[in-house]
Amino acid sequence: MAEFVFPPPAPVTVPVSDGRAFPVRRIFCVGRNYAAHAREMGNDPTREPPFFFTKPADALVTEGKDTPYPSETKNLHYEIELVVAIGKGGRNIAPAEALGHVFGYSIGVDLTRRDLQDEAKGMRRPWDLSKGFDASAPIGSIVPASEIGHPAAGRISLSVNGQVRQDGDLADQIWPVPDIVATLSKFVALAPGDLIFTGTPEGVGAIVQGDVVEGEIAGVGTLKTKII
Ligand code: MN
Repeated sequence: MAEFVFPPPAPVTVPVSDGRAFPVRRIFCVGRNYAAHAREMGNDPTREPPFFFTKPADALVTEGKDTPYPSETKNLHYEIELVVAIGKGGRNIAPAEALGHVFGYSIGVDLTRRDLQDEAKGMRRPWDLSKGFDASAPIGSIVPASEIGHPAAGRISLSVNGQVRQDGDLADQIWPVPDIVATLSKFVALAPGDLIFTGTPEGVGAIVQGDVVEGEIAGVGTLKTKII
């Protein structure tokens, strides 16, 4: 094998609740998957097929770490989301088979430079730098589905400095996990290590340096990070 020009980076990993480490390959995110959040963003929550955007794997901020406030924004928003961790790859996965491809679940925050995203929408430009920036994806530990099953209902909430800002239920997802996995696998061959952020309920808003963001999904886990 040819000599590396520089040492290749260590794989990005997320702790698993059983003490192992989950090596991350890619991060996919679903837009507008809760009707009330679609409405608060000015969109019609009719049941269009789910659409996706991405973040780089090294955007993850693992549990216990602080999150630096990003550059080039004056309106950083939180979005609490159920995260699906893919353990078995595949393409054109049928919805009825999709949960067999899921290793486990976690809780994540899809941080968003909302001002840049609004500008991108207005100018019909891509969302990459409003969504996929450094440290844009705080995440809790991953819990295997073999321990908790496949949560399809349950409280999903986020608080800032102890005040509840988002308080929804997984049952209100427009597209449940099997449909998300199936749809995404039509566009890309899913691979072990892929993470899917599955959209946020209503109540998104701005955070600033010094804020402490805490999330919880019933039966899945918790997440805490300070914006520094
Ligand atoms: Mn989101």
